[in-house]
Parts: sequence; structure tokens; C-alpha cells
Amino acid sequence: MLFLYLGGIMSFEIQREVTELCSKLIAIPSTSGNEANVIEAVLTWVSNNLNCSPVKIEKDGSVNISFAVGEPTGPTLILTTHLDTVVPSPKKWTVTDPFSPKVVDDRLYGLGSNDATGIAVSMMLAAKHFAITEAAKHGRIIVALVSQEETSGLGSRITADYFKDHLKELVIDPQKTMVIVGEPTGLDGYTCANKGNAFIKITIHGKSCHGSTPERGLNAAAETCSIVHSISTFEEILIRDYTDPVLGKPTISVTGLNSNLIFTDGEIVPAKPNTIPNTATVILDCRMGEPLFVDNFALFAKLLEEHVQKSLHESFTADVNFLHSPVEGHVTDTEGKAARTLEQVVLEKSGNRAKMHISTGANDAFFWGEAGFDTINEFGPGDRHRNHIPDEWNSISEMAEAVLMYMAVTSAWIEND
Ligand SMILES: [Zn+2]
Repeated sequence: MLFLYLGGIMSFEIQREVTELCSKLIAIPSTSGNEANVIEAVLTWVSNNLNCSPVKIEKDGSVNISFAVGEPTGPTLILTTHLDTVVPSPKKWTVTDPFSPKVVDDRLYGLGSNDATGIAVSMMLAAKHFAITEAAKHGRIIVALVSQEETSGLGSRITADYFKDHLKELVIDPQKTMVIVGEPTGLDGYTCANKGNAFIKITIHGKSCHGSTPERGLNAAAETCSIVHSISTFEEILIRDYTDPVLGKPTISVTGLNSNLIFTDGEIVPAKPNTIPNTATVILDCRMGEPLFVDNFALFAKLLEEHVQKSLHESFTADVNFLHSPVEGHVTDTEGKAARTLEQVVLEKSGNRAKMHISTGANDAFFWGEAGFDTINEFGPGDRHRNHIPDEWNSISEMAEAVLMYMAVTSAWIEND
């Protein structure tokens, strides 16, 4: 290992750096779609601390940032995570406000400390300290910090595509490149599989009439009940035919129902209590493994469409649409070089075999896997149970340890080449 000297004194210094930088970034509100200011702060930090030229990757209103340190022709570790946070409920925070970082013993409180600003900070500092090691003459760290992970995944989609489309200019050899997507897993294990995630809206169309003469209409509210009821049968069929050996059973949850709607003059508006509604909507949260999620959930969408059309009573019609672009799942190649390298470092650092987690939610690993990179689904300091909750915090010592872990993985990745 090239980095043993980084124990002891260095780790204390890194804790100080982690606290300072993470506090600075927490204080800049960066909810999804509003990441411009935090990205400017990262750019300033890069120009003050590193000798490299960061790149802003912008498209379709999404701004992302990437910077690299070390030898471009050597093996490369791409460290990537998101800078956006989820809109907090400030009233429920008791220790501090979401945007007022506060240190209590080993805990740094503040929005994003755990998911995922604290992880971004560990990645930034890993790049900084790696840049001045001997290993940086033989390999490289690229840090890619993205926006809109919590909403659409657009930031990673754009950033991973950018890397894939500029392999030559960026001197990236996919065979020599490993990607770690940063999400809080703790440092004793990693997430090796994420289910795919699709949100679906079913719109049921009937015929409106006065509530006193129901025989003249087609009641979309009543029809909704039968469609919702049939969804559990459909789910059972999917479980029977498509339970994934790694990701387990598909799930379909009804998360939204709006059955008192009428469609009139091109607009959908609430129906009056004495009106038979002609329109109803059902929202579904759908999570599953292969082959259902492949090609943007093509098979699942086809099966669901068939099921809905078959279940409708005569004269009703329905549209089945994605609420927004679905995100496919991703499974880390646990026999691959990236997983073996990470497991080797976890074993060396902790003395234990790496734990493997499976996640029921999609994440950005899919975009990196799709772009052709050997990708670790999730690995970073923190605990996913502290995501999106008041008084979010991360452990300062763990974030500092993550700096050393990310460096050690890079070193091992170079040595294993
Ligand atoms: Zn996250």
C-alpha cells in the first residue's frame, strides 16, 4: 500500500478539512434544480486547492462538474455523487437548521451531510491528497459531482454520456476505469444491486353526466376501484414469473388516486359532488429487477398496458404513461475487478469481509454501467436511514476515513492493473 503514512496525524488534519469544507457546502441551499451556487463553490475550492482545469458539463438546464488529478494514461477511478438535496421540513429540525451546519462531538449536522454533500467532500479531499502522492504518477482520480439525482437522475445521465462520448479527449479507457457512486452505506460494505424504479400514471376515461341519472354516464371513479383492485393480481403474476435472483420480488404500490375529475374543454378539473366524473387517475410506484426494467421498462410497460386494457369494463378507455423517465436498475459485477478491488480494501482496512447490500430504489449507477464502466452501485460514509430526515448528520471521523478509503481504492486499482 502506498498510503500507510496517511494514518494518525493526517487523519486528524483530514477531519478538520472535512468539517470546514462540508460546513461551507451545507450552508449553500442546493435543493434539486438549484445547484448552481454550490457548484460555483466547488469550482472555487478546486481552483484554490488543485492544479487542474475543472469542466462544467451542462445540458438541458442541468449543471454538473468534473475535475481530474493524476496521470491520465494510468488506471482511473471515477468518484461520483450528487450535490442536490431534498427539500427539508425546517420546522422539524431541533439540533440546528437545515442550512446551519453544527458540530456536536463527532457529528456534523446539516442538510446533505449524509446524503450526499458529506460524501462529495470526502471525494474532493481524496482527490486533493491523492494528487501529491507517488501513486498520482501512475493513475488518476476523476471526481464528477452531479445535480438532480433526487428527482430525475438527469445530472448523471448527462455526465456519464459526456464521458462516454469524449473517451479520446478525456483519455479514458473503459477497461481501466472503475466508478464508485457515492451514497451512504457505511465503510464496511457496499450496495451491489439496485432495483429499477418507474412511476406510472393510469388515466381512466368514462363519460360524465348528472349524478341523479348515472345510467347516462360511465363512472370513472367506480371503474378506478376495479382497476386498483386488479393491480394486486397483476403484481402476483409478475412475482410468479419475474422474481429476480438478486433483486427479489417486483413490487407495485398504488401511491395516488384521484377519481373525482372531469375532462372538459381540454382541461382536467375536479368534478362537483353531483357529477359523475369522466376521468380518474391512478399513480403507481413500481420497483423491479431484470428483465422487466430493461430498455426503459419496455417489457413491464407492455405487460401493464395489456393488463389494464384487459381489465377495463366495456366502453371505458385508459392511457398508461410514465410520470417521468424511469430509471433502470443496476447490478454490480461482483466477480469483476472493481468489486474485487473494493472488497480487498475493505478487508485490509476493517479486517472483515465487505457486507453486500441490496437496495429497493434505483440510483445513478445505472447511467454509469450503461456508459460502459465497471461500476460499484453505492459506497460512501454515512447511513441511508439518515437520508431525507430532520437533523440529518454524518460522522466526521467516518467522512475522514472515507477520504483515505477512496485513496486506498485508487491505489489498489492502480496496483491491480
Ligand atoms: Zn443520495
